[in-house]
This record gives sequence, C-alpha cells and structure tokens, in this order.
Amino acid sequence: MPKLSAIPDHLTAWVLGSPASLLGQVAAWCQGRSSQWPCVRALFLQFNPTCAACGGKKGLQVHHMVPVHLSPSRELDTKNLIVLCEDNCCHLMVGHLGSFLSFNPDVEQDAGRQLTKIKNRPRIHATAAADTLRLNLPPLLPPIGASDEPGVDLTRPGCPGEGALW
Ligand SMILES: [Zn+2]
Ligand SMILES: [Zn+2]
Repeated sequence: MPKLSAIPDHLTAWVLGSPASLLGQVAAWCQGRSSQWPCVRALFLQFNPTCAACGGKKGLQVHHMVPVHLSPSRELDTKNLIVLCEDNCCHLMVGHLGSFLSFNPDVEQDAGRQLTKIKNRPRIHATAAADTLRLNLPPLLPPIGASDEPGVDLTRPGCPGEGALW
C-alpha cells in the first residue's frame, strides 16, 4: 500500500473519515493503475476535446464507463472511455449518478441525449417583448447565497464531490 502522501490531496480529503478498509481499496486502486494511463488519457482528450454530456470545454475528465476496479482489462480501452466535465458536474451526475461510489451503466446514451437536448434547447426569452416584460418583473429567485433552505449552500462553487481520478 502506498503512503498516504502518494494519493492526490482531493482524494485524501474524500477518504478521510472513511473506514480504513476503504482507504486500503483506494490505495490499492491507485497502485494498480497502468503507467500508460496518463498517455492514453491525454490522447483521448486530444481527440475528444469537449464534454460528451454538455459540450463544455472546461474541467474535462476522462471517465471509465465500466469502472476500472470492475474491469481492469478495460482500463486503456478507448471504447470504455468518455469525456465528461467537472465544471458542469457532468462527471459526477451523468457518469456516477451523483456519487463517486457508483457509476451509470447508461452513461453513453444519457450523455448523448443530454447533449442533443442542450444543443436544441429552447430560449425562454425568445422575443424582445418578452425581454422587456422580464426586465419589468421583480426577481423570482433570491440572489445567489441568499437561500435559507437547509442543506443548500449556493455560495459554494463546483460540484458536491471530488473525482478527478474516477
Ligand atoms: Zn459537461
Ligand atoms: Zn468517472
């Protein structure tokens, strides 16, 4: 098992407070990764420079559709890879269904459907008249950070989880 310092900070933070067995699993997983993975990952990003679910170009991550720990032989199989982003939470929500302890067996189809919808999304304020009307209405939502709903922190940027390596 590698030293804790060998594990990236965000992953360490994620496993802190977790059972020792989980920490062991994470460490073993990091240790078992192919030395070719960084190269395959970089090449895959060159050929797939946008998020498959939203079309975004920021915070791109390469996701294994079938997780490496379930199918180690497919770690470098490009047919098992898909680019999802962290900035719009696509990796967490589309790739892992909201938990990096899970994965989405239908990630390719779901990402494709979402991307098509986003590309064809309707405009809410389609006309100048609607824009004028909107400007004359009071705001429907409180400003960001003003929500008093328990458990919702609108001031926190990013996604509720870490997963750059998953
Ligand atoms: Zn995305
Ligand atoms: Zn992933």
